[in-house]
Amino acid sequence: MKRNANLNALKPSYLFPEVNMKRKQFQETHPEAQVISLGIGDTTEPLDPFIAEALAKAASELSTLAGYSGYGPEQGIKPLREAVAEKLYHGMIEADDVFISDGAKCDIGRLQVLFGKEISIAVQDPAYPVYVDGSLLQGVKKIDYLPCNPENDFFPELSEKSDLIYFCSPNNPTGAVATRQQLEKLVAFALKNRSIIIYDSAYASYIQDKNLPKSIYEIEGAKKVAIEISSFSKLAGFTGVRLGWTIVPKELLYEDATSIRADWNRITCTIFNGASNIAQKGALSVLQKEGLEAIQKTISFYLENAAIIKSALEQKGFEVYGGLNAPYLWVRTQDLSWNAFQKFLEKYHIVTTPGSGFGPSGEHFLRFTAFGKRSNILEAAKRLKN
Ligand code: PLP
Repeated sequence: MKRNANLNALKPSYLFPEVNMKRKQFQETHPEAQVISLGIGDTTEPLDPFIAEALAKAASELSTLAGYSGYGPEQGIKPLREAVAEKLYHGMIEADDVFISDGAKCDIGRLQVLFGKEISIAVQDPAYPVYVDGSLLQGVKKIDYLPCNPENDFFPELSEKSDLIYFCSPNNPTGAVATRQQLEKLVAFALKNRSIIIYDSAYASYIQDKNLPKSIYEIEGAKKVAIEISSFSKLAGFTGVRLGWTIVPKELLYEDATSIRADWNRITCTIFNGASNIAQKGALSVLQKEGLEAIQKTISFYLENAAIIKSALEQKGFEVYGGLNAPYLWVRTQDLSWNAFQKFLEKYHIVTTPGSGFGPSGEHFLRFTAFGKRSNILEAAKRLKN
């Protein structure tokens, strides 16, 4: 059996294994050190009992004849599609354009099947690695990296036409949030060049500033050019439960005027069989009044974590970006990212993520996550300040 040649295009995924290896090496030589991880972006706060009970109830119902259900609709249960459209998009999009998934990452992978390999893509640099890796798996060859840095306000120069443009706001890793004007520019560019935007809004719920758009569909014309991918992971602590959604508006068409949504529906039915019924019922509780209040508390908690770390780093004289409407801080370092990583580990016993792992423009930056227990965040801040 020959290996799928597209797999050869993937670089070894060394970022987090390397981070863990360096942490382990340090711990072996410094067994007394209490190392704090501000590296991996995974949620740490428990689910609110209201949401956990809905998940438990959904599981328990499966043990009764009346409550048992098997395969559900591949696109997701109707009440959840309706709740996403109403509670998160306030009617801006239609419920039958919402496709419930088992997570944003899985859908980013499946989406690329829609467009195949004969396309050009553009990604923000630095970026969440799945956009590029998923494209390489499809056999995509033309990849344009668009530098995003403090000098351009983390908004790329849009000059080269690409078929697909991946855009993530609030951004992982930089924590930058695109303004309305920036998104208007992006949508206008896509409309002019007939490109499609894959808009990743996995962290939209961290936007507290009412002037900042939470969805690409807040921009006029976006339904003609954008697919939005999002997730319950950071919204509701579902990183392990697994649930997300993708919006493919009816208005989105191929150049021959046929429906992209119809093909997405086909792909969903062909290589995905619908999200977990338990997770979907849990998500329904997230979108009820009590659930929405509970998740807002947790989101505020993580944003307070971000503020604590930001303030400590700034007191130390670091140039810090993000962390205001996003759970990530992006910190400029004089040293190369990996050297800065090692210094933070040795000096403060804090694990970060080297920016260069997210793309060439991430060099000389470190990413700090705001996901973490408060005691660890306070201890990390104390170490940084002293
Ligand atoms: N998109 C971005 C920008 C992310 O940072 C992540 C997870 O870290 C995801 C998508 C994946 O989300 P999910 O857990 O729904 O697969």
